Amino acid sequence: MNLEAYLKEQLAERQTAGLMRTRDTFHSPQKASRLIHNQPCINFSSNDYLGLANDSRVAKEMMQAIKSHGVGSGASHLTSGHHVSHQALEEALAEFTGRESALLFSSGYMANMGVICALMKKGDAIFHDRLNHVSLLEAGLLSGAQSRRFPHLDYETLARRLSQCEVEKRLVVTDGVFSMDGDQADLSRLSSLCQTHQAWLMVDDAHGLGVLGQQGAGSAESFHLSQDELPILMGTLGKAFGTAGAFVAGSKQLIETLIQLSKTYTYTTAMPPSIAQATLVSLGIIQSEPWRRDHLASLMERFRTGCQSRGITVMPSVTPIQPLIVGNLEQTVNICETLRRSGCWVSAIRPPTVPKGTSRIRVTLTAEHQCADVDTLLVELEKAMELYHVAAG
Ligand SMILES: *Cc1c(COP(=O)(O)O)cnc(C)c1O
Repeated sequence: MNLEAYLKEQLAERQTAGLMRTRDTFHSPQKASRLIHNQPCINFSSNDYLGLANDSRVAKEMMQAIKSHGVGSGASHLTSGHHVSHQALEEALAEFTGRESALLFSSGYMANMGVICALMKKGDAIFHDRLNHVSLLEAGLLSGAQSRRFPHLDYETLARRLSQCEVEKRLVVTDGVFSMDGDQADLSRLSSLCQTHQAWLMVDDAHGLGVLGQQGAGSAESFHLSQDELPILMGTLGKAFGTAGAFVAGSKQLIETLIQLSKTYTYTTAMPPSIAQATLVSLGIIQSEPWRRDHLASLMERFRTGCQSRGITVMPSVTPIQPLIVGNLEQTVNICETLRRSGCWVSAIRPPTVPKGTSRIRVTLTAEHQCADVDTLLVELEKAMELYHVAAG
């Protein structure tokens, strides 16, 4: 088969289905107001929830770390790439999450692959929430274990399936906060369910970490779940932490097992030490500046009340992810483009990222937004929705 002919056909199919994705190039750092094609816009589509991706203290630490430690780590952790900055960050993250140990990965995608493939294999059973992040689902497939998806947040079905499942080694995996819906898993319920059925519980807290909990330690903190109650905790550093990378936290034995068996840990270059060093500063800010979470909460409240008073239905979400379901794909794209033209940068989320018929505008808020930004968004949103006659919800 001719490669270029094949590629052309594949792309044409995607184009016809209206699913072609494009990248927009920004000309300014990740922050609340940005330049796109040299036009200013308010950015409602980043995961930089606490506004740390462009924090001067974090940036300064990174520059200093580059001066002292150089740029690249030069090797994987098990050869000669494990730097004292990595070690310090792992220890700090373990303490922050109330776990014995933590292990850094280069990305959240790799962390999920690494954990699931190290723990599960052919003959084992994995239970996924239907709306789990794609990296978890893909990791399940790669592991060779039998993967099953239960309906979103339907823990009764999960309980029934667990009690019917004869497989000895069972892993229940869920997002802490669902990335495209903004709702939360009921981790108390999942944790006791897993204890009853002797299944292992893994939570991907990419969107909860930094945002939820008094200290910002995420879903585990907000549900007060100890290491025994939630043994496998994964978090990312590229979202609320504003840097890059990810980690897994849990018992010493879990971490030792991952060091021994995770291929995405072993066979990849360690993240630059400067990123680890900068992340230590982010972590300090997350803990010492709770006003960021408070401000975020008041923005969410403002946005939700504003939507309600305009008859725009938002999905039930207590997180900075505030999606508006439009349903129809074309309408979603049109509304999104109208908003962008009026200076509000939002994302249109479409299949296959979300199920067919649930295309949505995904609004994310960050601690960098002002109340006036939210007000502007509400006004423009109402106009755009009216233009396309959408009664959202
Ligand atoms: C972003 C995300 C990941 C991937 O993390 P990266 O560090 O960006 O690779 C994994 N899980 C969830 C739920 C995410 O939102």
